[in-house]
Amino acid sequence: MTRESVNGIFCPCCGSPTELSDSWLTCSATGTQFSTSVASELHRYVETPPQAVPAVSFRWGGSWFCSADATAMVETDGRVSCLACGRTMPNMLLYSIIKFHVHGASTP
Ligand SMILES: [Zn+2]
Ligand SMILES: [Zn+2]
Repeated sequence: MTRESVNGIFCPCCGSPTELSDSWLTCSATGTQFSTSVASELHRYVETPPQAVPAVSFRWGGSWFCSADATAMVETDGRVSCLACGRTMPNMLLYSIIKFHVHGASTP
């Protein structure tokens, strides 16, 4: 096993490669399945050049990884950005992941 993602998308929550499981985009480290809307957002994120993202007035918190290159992202001034490729996580993507996924929380 290599640290290479077959579909070119890394988990935004832990930086692990993702894989397709029953056609769901799945984090290979935790088994977290992403919804189809999040998966399509992630596809768009890695397939398009860096986009301008409006800053928010609150802190997102948490730790994020670039889905294009698995680099740990930094939050500054209401934006979560990757210093390696210059991409910024779209706000809707962050919101969707925070709202709908409990990544890594496998305790009952
Ligand atoms: Zn993950
Ligand atoms: Zn990046």
